Amino acid sequence: MRYFPAPYPDEILGSLLIRACHHLGLSPRGLVHYLDDGWGEFSFVYPSFFQGISRLTRIPAEILLTEHTVFPYVAIGMTTPRRRVLESDWLTAPAHGNSLRLRAALGLHIDELALRRYCPQCCDEDYRCIGESYWHRRHMLPGVFICPKHGEPLLVSSTSVLPKLTTESAKLPQEVSGQPYSWGLDENGMRCLAAAVEEAMSLPAQTWSNMYSDAPASSVVKTRKYSNGDVDPMLMQFCRFYGTEFLRKMGLSLQTLDSDGWPSRMMRGARPSVLRPLRHILLRLFLLSSIFS
Ligand SMILES: [Zn+2]
Repeated sequence: MRYFPAPYPDEILGSLLIRACHHLGLSPRGLVHYLDDGWGEFSFVYPSFFQGISRLTRIPAEILLTEHTVFPYVAIGMTTPRRRVLESDWLTAPAHGNSLRLRAALGLHIDELALRRYCPQCCDEDYRCIGESYWHRRHMLPGVFICPKHGEPLLVSSTSVLPKLTTESAKLPQEVSGQPYSWGLDENGMRCLAAAVEEAMSLPAQTWSNMYSDAPASSVVKTRKYSNGDVDPMLMQFCRFYGTEFLRKMGLSLQTLDSDGWPSRMMRGARPSVLRPLRHILLRLFLLSSIFS
């Protein structure tokens, strides 16, 4: 059995590959041969090399998928059959095979969302406790802009998650520097949103099938159509709840405040491809907050 590092809790597979390069003294290209999967490119964010990593870590590929990739995030809002198709696609396709869908789901067309993010306190703690830092999966999810563990705003590095891993980009948090970034939410808003992301990931698939039909606020949408410039009061509340700056920075500004606004369309069953998980999270948090306000 050849040596290969084991993944840490909530470590994304790209981070494990970077640490493997460090531990084994290999370049990413050299690691491809080490994994014996024949061919392919390492990606920080697109899952790949499941079979090789599974063999060397003795962790089933399905566990790697759910514990160490963004699969549970991308699956938010999906029914069980759709989740099964997604799981099969990810376990069998090479990294680039799923890249377009993943890029849309994670909003990687937005520059700041495509940069690796980390918590400086996690970085320090990890380095002190285990001798190295690593990239936490939860820190790279759209909507998590504050560390759920420390409550500290994440720092944004200058390294993109997108290109294939090279010797230059095979860096751990302790080897990069980062800057704070204003996402358009105050700290309390970021804290609520980060908690909503984690909760949404833990919900079973069937929860989503009647999420909006059961929501009290959806009766407004169902009973009356707002069109031709009629303002839908729910969308006004939604805009006020998150603020136009935050929605603009996420690329989720409302083009219209009538029934064609994207939150209203999603409540009627629309399935936009871009940032769909984040839209579900925002809508659910808004609806829950509306109930209790
Ligand atoms: Zn932290």
